[in-house]
Amino acid sequence: MAFRQIAVLLLLTLLLPLTGYGWGFFAHQRINRLAVYTLPPEMVGFYKKHIRYITENAVNPDRRRYAVAGEAPRHYIDLDVYGDSALYKMPRYWQQAVEKYGEDTLMSHGIVPWHINRMKFQLTQAFKDRNLDQILRLSADMGHYIADASVPLHTTRNYNGQLTGQRGIHAFWESRLPELLSDNYDFFVGQAQYIEQPQLRAWDIVASAHLALDSVLSFERELTLAFDEEKKYSYEVRGNLTTRVYSREFSEAYHRRLNGQVERQMRLAIHNVASYWFTAWVDAGQPDLRQLGSTLSAEEQERLRMELKEYEQGPHLPREEGESYLHRNTWISGHKE
Ligand SMILES: [Zn+2]
Repeated sequence: MAFRQIAVLLLLTLLLPLTGYGWGFFAHQRINRLAVYTLPPEMVGFYKKHIRYITENAVNPDRRRYAVAGEAPRHYIDLDVYGDSALYKMPRYWQQAVEKYGEDTLMSHGIVPWHINRMKFQLTQAFKDRNLDQILRLSADMGHYIADASVPLHTTRNYNGQLTGQRGIHAFWESRLPELLSDNYDFFVGQAQYIEQPQLRAWDIVASAHLALDSVLSFERELTLAFDEEKKYSYEVRGNLTTRVYSREFSEAYHRRLNGQVERQMRLAIHNVASYWFTAWVDAGQPDLRQLGSTLSAEEQERLRMELKEYEQGPHLPREEGESYLHRNTWISGHKE
């Protein structure tokens, strides 16, 4: 291979972002997009008008992880760090949690349930202010964090199976499975519903994810024992790259063992995303969305451009869950969407 080709390939490899943070780009975009269709009549027109924005920007928080200090912990919570029954014992409200553990500890093990609630307050304020830029940005971002909180591997420090010899399972569950199989999922989730206690709901989401964690890990382990190594993986060519992926056979067997778990969590995410948007709008006094402008301000467009540029040029040294080639695949396919 010519030196130049190698150099280009190397450069591409370095530039390719590592996206193992809560669903792949594909699933994040699908979740935000489908949430739009469950909104009530007073909201659906506005969100449909901006559905491209809501969909494309569903992945911005992952892009920002590398550039913005304090972004990373918003995507997960390592519950097991806090002991066996942490799910039941953790203080639900931020202030109490800070009093019990201190902010540094909380930040180092993830804050997703509290951050969802914070986003909900901010979105409510944006609706009150009739601020189009903020409404769209916060809606897209909040969708991302809610979707992340629905992923079992986002509730454990063993987020990529790295502590149990199952490295790669993160992208397998959240990217490979939905990309292979989600066309057959049933995404009819019913209408968005008002959430009485947004902070507690965020914990319900985390709980549903965390309770599914044991199956995520144990089924993969059992299947691995039953499969020959060469049947567990296969090779796919995407663009110029030949990459190793979990084979279709292994993926389908895992999917059957999980008995619809990925689909359930995705449906839960879609319904919750829409319900949080709806709740923020109701709490803001149900402003008439038809009176909002339809284009982002010049500053906001510039901000989005800068964010993307920073992401494309910045260093990508995240938590290692993204280190596998699988994520690169995800990113490539996600980007072609
Ligand atoms: Zn994320």
